[in-house]
This record gives sequence, C-alpha cells and structure tokens, in this order.
Amino acid sequence: MNSTPTSTPTSTPTSIAIIGAGPGGLTCARVLQLHGVDVTVYDADASATARDQGGTLDMQPDTGQHALRAAELWDEFVSLARPEGEQMRLVARDGGIVFDGAPPEEGRGNPEIDRGQLREILFNSLAPRSIRWGHKLERAEPIGAGRHRLHFAHGDTAEADLVIGADGAWSRVRRLLSDAVPVYTGVTFVETGLEDADVRHPELARLTGDGTMMALDDNLGIVAQRNSAGRIRVYAGMRVPEDWYARTGVDLADTAAVRAALLARFADWSPALLRYLTDTDSGYVNRPLYALPVPHTWEHTPGVTLLGDAAHLMSPFSGMGANLAMRDGADLARALVDQHGVDEAVTAYEKILLPRSVEAAEGAAEGIAGAFAPDSAEQARAHMTSHH
Ligand SMILES: Cc1cc2nc3c(=O)[nH]c(=O)nc-3n(C[C@H](O)[C@H](O)[C@H](O)COP(=O)(O)OP(=O)(O)OC[C@H]3O[C@@H](n4cnc5c(N)ncnc54)[C@H](O)[C@@H]3O)c2cc1C
Repeated sequence: MNSTPTSTPTSTPTSIAIIGAGPGGLTCARVLQLHGVDVTVYDADASATARDQGGTLDMQPDTGQHALRAAELWDEFVSLARPEGEQMRLVARDGGIVFDGAPPEEGRGNPEIDRGQLREILFNSLAPRSIRWGHKLERAEPIGAGRHRLHFAHGDTAEADLVIGADGAWSRVRRLLSDAVPVYTGVTFVETGLEDADVRHPELARLTGDGTMMALDDNLGIVAQRNSAGRIRVYAGMRVPEDWYARTGVDLADTAAVRAALLARFADWSPALLRYLTDTDSGYVNRPLYALPVPHTWEHTPGVTLLGDAAHLMSPFSGMGANLAMRDGADLARALVDQHGVDEAVTAYEKILLPRSVEAAEGAAEGIAGAFAPDSAEQARAHMTSHH
C-alpha cells in the first residue's frame, strides 16, 4: 500500500489553500497529495495536539470508510479502530437497562475511533510542512480572476487560486458565499469524563458497556461513551435556553456550582446514573449545540468552496458530521484531480455535496428533537427496537 504522498509534478499549476485541519480538510489534503497536487493547510490551533479533540466517531461505510480508502489509510484506521465501541445501550432514568444492542459481527458495522487518533493518522500522512499551525484566518478577500488573499490573525497573508473552507461551524470562509449563521438547537451538552474507568469506576464502566450508554427522558439525557485507553466521555444533555447558566446564576468555571446545577435538574434520576455526573475526573465543559439552516446553499463563486461543518453544520444526532466532512474532502480532491479545470471541478463537487448533506441534516434535526422531548424515553425505546 502506498501511504506516502507522491511528489510527481502535477499538471494543475493551481495554488490550493485549505482552511482547517479537521477530519474534512485533512482528508482533502491527503487525497490531493496522493495524486501529486500541491496544497497548504492552515489551522488556527497552535499544534496538532494543542486542543482536546473530543470523543469517538464511528466511521460509516459510504462516507468515512469510503474516504479512508480513498486516502489509502484504511489499514492505519483498522489498527486503531474499536469495532465493539459501536455497541449501543438504552437505560431508563431509574437505571434499568431497557435495550442492549448486539455487538456487530466481526468485520461489519461502523467501527469507532477516537477523534484525536483519526486526526493523527491523517496528519501523519501529509507531506512535511504542508500544514501551517497557528494560522487563524480572519478574512479572505477576493482579488480578481477567482483568486483570494488570506489575512491571518497574526498579520501574515497568503494568496490562493482556490480557497477551501474546511474551518468548521464558525467558518470565516463561509462569509464569502453566504450570510447563513449557525442557530442554537435548543439543546446543550455539558461534557465531563471518567479516566481509567474499569479500575477507578467499575460500576459506571459496567453500566456503560463497550460502546455508548444513553438515558433519555423528559428533555434531559445522560450519554456515556467509551473512548480508547479506559476513558469514558460523559455528556449531560438538557433542553435549556442557550444562557441557562446565566439565568440560574451558575458560574461555568465553578465546578461545584455546575455540579449542583446538574444535580438539581436531574434530581429524580437514579443515583446510579447520577454518579456519571458526580464521580467525574475532569471539570465540566458547556457545549451548546448549533446547526446551520437546512438546506444551506450558495451560488457557485469561482475560487472558493466549503466542505464539512462549514457547509452543513448539523447536531450530533445525525452521527454523520465527521463522516460527511471526510467524504466531502475526498470527493472534492478527486474532482480536482479528475477534471481539467478548477472551476469545473468545484462545480461538479458542489452538485453532489449539497443534496447529500440535506438528508443527513434533516435526520439530525429530527433526531435531536426526538431525543430531547417530554416523551423521549418512549421515542428512544421505539427507535432502538426498530433499528436493531
Ligand atoms: C458532541 C458531539 C459529538 C459528535 N459525534 C459525532 C459522531 O459520532 N460522528 C460524526 O460523524 N460526527 C460527530 N460529530 C460532528 C463532528 O464533530 C463534525 O461534524 C466534524 O468535526 C466536522 O469536521 P470538519 O473537518 O468539517 O470541521 P472541524 O472538525 O470543526 O475542524 C475545523 C478545523 O478548522 C480550524 N479552524 C476553525 N476556524 C479557523 C480559522 N478561522 N482559521 C483557521 N483554522 C480554523 C479548527 O481549529 C479545526 O481544526 C459530533 C459533534 C459534537 C459536537
């Protein structure tokens, strides 16, 4: 397997700038480099490991898995993937197990991988010096003939024939194409975590199982998700106003105050489930969930396009965001390699990108509405039993 980018000269003398080294931008860069196309990736983070990359992702056949194969990184993925992590358990607010999904058959299903590990596989596959960390894009300015000048926060500038906005939910590149802004979904996740869970928190580890444990009821939810190295990531989900903490006078930096506020909201939930919130080994991070309006479209504009969350941010209830971002990245790269002109390639890519994401985004909107509703326990039970 060829896992090293070729350095064959390309017939595409185009300067391509990808803004954002998330799963989408990195996949796009990798597939371009595999085909000898030069590309520079700019990311706001100071380094690959500067920020906790978040929980685990399941890679799905038509999207994430397809992209990993296009990137010739399938073997690297398989060596780190956790097929058992796909297991899904539904628990009632009284702590009783309502539904336990069977583990997938060997070699099937959607294996899980930690987001940090996925970023590392992609990052390590790129040619040296093709990522510029510490480059936060402030704005991209059209300078004629489809070219753009990139202005970075620390004062550097660069020019590109094609700017690919892979810069996530709050994309700066998106401003060149549309006025759309992410809208609060009505649901906030407060994230916390358990370290070395099998040893330090054996009862919670057992209740979690090998994959994801979900307890949903009456506009609230506790989700616990196995990560690698014995870590369990926990989300306390609540349908609340975006400024719920300010309204109730909670200082988000005050761990004890956040814990007390969560316990008050989940007051009549089983003590076994409440331990996910109290026995934490980390603080609490407030994560309001946002989505772009559906469908989010734009008029084709020479020299600039979007992929991943920048194009179609959706709630995590699609389970598809990173998968779609990677498929977008692989498809855009492939179009640039296969088509004669950049504009032709981007036009062809945009024709498939937008319809594909609409279905997932509609599913995500329905999913989050059902998961945080007064009757979400019944809805979740019906959903799980009909899908497994
Ligand atoms: C709680 C939660 C759980 C999720 N679970 C799943 C799941 O199970 N499966 C799944 O498929 N998806 C899941 N998602 C969605 C997934 O996280 C995103 O869809 C995915 O990360 C999008 O990838 P991306 O490459 O488009 O953008 P991102 O991953 O957001 O990457 C964007 C990159 O751009 C950089 N950047 C941002 N602004 C700038 C700037 N101005 N200049 C330079 N760089 C910039 C950032 O530093 C970042 O590295 C989940 C999301 C959340 C919130």
